[in-house]
Amino acid sequence: MRLLIDLDNTLVDRDAAFRAWVRSTVRGSGGDDDDGIAALLAADDHGYGDRAEVVRALRDATGLTDEDAILRDRVMTEHVELIRCYPGVVEALRRLREGGVHIAVVSNGTGRQQRAKIARAGLTGLLDGIVLSEEVGVAKPDPRIFAAACAGTEDGEQIWMIGDNPRADVLGARDAGLPAIWVSHGRGWPSDHGARPTTVESTTAALELIAAQFTS
Ligand SMILES: [Mg+2]
Repeated sequence: MRLLIDLDNTLVDRDAAFRAWVRSTVRGSGGDDDDGIAALLAADDHGYGDRAEVVRALRDATGLTDEDAILRDRVMTEHVELIRCYPGVVEALRRLREGGVHIAVVSNGTGRQQRAKIARAGLTGLLDGIVLSEEVGVAKPDPRIFAAACAGTEDGEQIWMIGDNPRADVLGARDAGLPAIWVSHGRGWPSDHGARPTTVESTTAALELIAAQFTS
C-alpha cells in the first residue's frame, strides 16, 4: 500500500506555527495590535494568500521598514522553526511504515521551505518519498503531481491520499483516480465541491483508517 499525504495542516500544524510567529513578531515590534494580527492572518489565508499581501499586512501591523524581499523571506522562513507535527502523527506514521506502507508527502511549495519543515517536524526518516510542486513543476490539484507520486507502484497496489484542502488534495486526487480521505479539522465540506469524500476530523483519525484498511 502507498500513502500519499499532504504536509501543511495535515502532517504539521502549519497554521499554529504561523500564528505563533505572527503574534511574537507583532508584539516584539512593540505592537499590541489584535486587529493587525487578525489582518495578517487573513492575508495569509492558511498559507494560500498572496505573499505580497502578507508582507503589506506585516508592515501595517509592525511598522517594519525593511525591503520587501527581506520581509518576504522572514514570512517564508521564520515560522518554520515553530513547525511541529500534530500530536500522535509521528507514532502513527512509524507504525504504518513498520507495517510496510510506503509513505510519500505530496505538497505545494518550494523545496527549501517544505524540506525545512519536514526536517524540523522530525519527519525525515519516516518518508519514502517527497513530491513537491516546485520540484515536479506542477502543483496540486493538477493530477500530474499525483501521477509523479505514484511512480513505481506495483500493479494492483492500493493508493490513498490524505489532505486537509478540499480542492488541492481531495478533488486533485479524485481527478487522478485516487481515493482520498479529507481531514476536516471540524469544517464542513464545501457544497460546490461535489460528493463529500471519506471525512475525519484529525490526521491521526485518517491514519487509523489507513491502518484498518491495510490490516483488513
Ligand atoms: Mg494542507
